[in-house]
Amino acid sequence: MFMNQSLRYWGTALVLLPAAGASAQTHGKPVDAKMLRNAASDATEWVTYGRDYSETRYSPLRQINASNLSRLGLTTVFPMTALGAMEATPLVHDGIMYVSHSYGIVFAFDLHTGEKIWEYDPKVAYEVQQHGCCGVVNRGVALYQGRVYVGAMDGRLIALDAKTGKVDWEAQTTPTDNAYTSTGAPRVIKGKVVIGNGGAEYAVRGFFSAYDAVTGKLAWKFYTVPGDPSKPVENPALTKAMKTWNGDWWKMGGGGTVWDSFAYDPAADLMYVGTGNGGPWDRDYRSPGGGDNLYLSSILAVRPDTGKLVWYYQTTPGDSWDYTAVQQITLLDLKIGGRTRKVLVQAPKNGFFYVLDRITGELLSAEPYGHITWAKGIDMKTGRPIENEGARYPAGTAQPVSPGPGGVHNWHPMSWNPDTGLVYIPGSNSTMVYSATPNFAYKKGSWNSGSSITAPNRPEMPFIGPPAVPGQNGFLSAWDPVANKERWRVTYGPTFNGGTVTTAGNLVFEGTADGHMVAYSADKGEKLWEMNLQERNMASPITYEFDGKQYIAILGGRASNPAAGLRGGAGAAGKDQSGPGPKLFIFALDGKKSVEEALPRK
Ligand code: CA
Repeated sequence: MFMNQSLRYWGTALVLLPAAGASAQTHGKPVDAKMLRNAASDATEWVTYGRDYSETRYSPLRQINASNLSRLGLTTVFPMTALGAMEATPLVHDGIMYVSHSYGIVFAFDLHTGEKIWEYDPKVAYEVQQHGCCGVVNRGVALYQGRVYVGAMDGRLIALDAKTGKVDWEAQTTPTDNAYTSTGAPRVIKGKVVIGNGGAEYAVRGFFSAYDAVTGKLAWKFYTVPGDPSKPVENPALTKAMKTWNGDWWKMGGGGTVWDSFAYDPAADLMYVGTGNGGPWDRDYRSPGGGDNLYLSSILAVRPDTGKLVWYYQTTPGDSWDYTAVQQITLLDLKIGGRTRKVLVQAPKNGFFYVLDRITGELLSAEPYGHITWAKGIDMKTGRPIENEGARYPAGTAQPVSPGPGGVHNWHPMSWNPDTGLVYIPGSNSTMVYSATPNFAYKKGSWNSGSSITAPNRPEMPFIGPPAVPGQNGFLSAWDPVANKERWRVTYGPTFNGGTVTTAGNLVFEGTADGHMVAYSADKGEKLWEMNLQERNMASPITYEFDGKQYIAILGGRASNPAAGLRGGAGAAGKDQSGPGPKLFIFALDGKKSVEEALPRK
């Protein structure tokens, strides 16, 4: 059935392409609110992180498809002066690609000439690089009204002139006396730039905030964890949260940082936000005596004008395993039980694929999409997980649990294809042994997980449920969110593989952990095409059309600098880099560029 549908699209490709091409370079104006709202229907561009507000990463382009994939090749291999691992999704507007990478360095790349137009370096202080959580990465920028917005690693939200790369304004979004970092892509919703941050491993207090896109003035701030109970709450939603915490959590912070997912439904005027794990990880240290610890590991529905909470759903009450729910939230309209439901779907770290009514927050289904031992399932009456006996790790015990803190799904973007009705999840299975750190004492600005993690290499340990998984094993799962079950799966060796993009050409593209770019058929998961890019750490692919031609682009690679991405002093990025480093790869039909010619000469 899916195949017939796909063939029909391929058959009409030649008729449809000129029309799509005609609209390609007629924008001639900056990204505005209307373009953001209609991003899904403009096949030629990629103007916001997840391609559209629903974060689908689906493209209607079909010039590249199974019938001509053998002609797909590289048109550009652009070596980047970057350190750390590549995680960013580039944006494309009006013939220019905006790329961010380590620290929040941004450059504009001219699709006409294949040259860099400008580059901006936020010059993040060396101290932040050393103490910040968790990797010198950046996942993307936002575009709006002639500005490019980036979160620098030190928590500054910076608005750049899209034409010149010059700073228009900057705002410090995080306290500078603690280990907050900003690595996620900001989003622009109703004239406000929404930005989160990371640092839950350092037990910082999580929040996200919104800034006026023109002036850089703070509009509102939403703390995900209550503060000092003797002081007034900053947000009415925290009154309820306060009752779910014990002890002196506020003296540490509590975690719940928001470092990745934002989605927006303009019709409902609701913004959806995923929150992070507890800090410290071990609830016994964070909230002695227990409690759900709202709003950790939760999905929040919030009014973008005010930051007011409308509903919430907590995926992992009383988290002790670093099970963040910051993972991508995708908004879909699905036919469930004979009627169209406006839903959101999420595949958070804890391994359950959630389908919720996005207007009311009602849980519609939750099924495991990977190897899980911490819970038996989700109680559909209460919406709560049914934890397995022994999933927690009281002091003095060591418990193997699946998944480990890497989660079954992490930052790697998934994608949704309306033609196949499938979500493509870049996942991985793992087991780790959790134990409480003896005599844990909170130290501000330091790693404060309060837990130790080891590989499950002692066979005498009692395993919960299914046997342990050695290592962290990657897979690509094609998931049917209506039936809430898997339709096909590709398994890999060690992970992490990159994010996915899917197209009307019945294709799914993914970069693998060992530096290959791969295309699968979206309906069946057949590997149709592959290229060895001789890299590691692939980010997430995008696709766009330029001058009537469809392109696929992806960042890949990791600097081989032994300092693990740290850069000394005030020198320019990448000066001390040696060997193959990160690159921007662009593919199209009949691309003839070779990877080798971009590698440094020996
Ligand atoms: Ca974490």
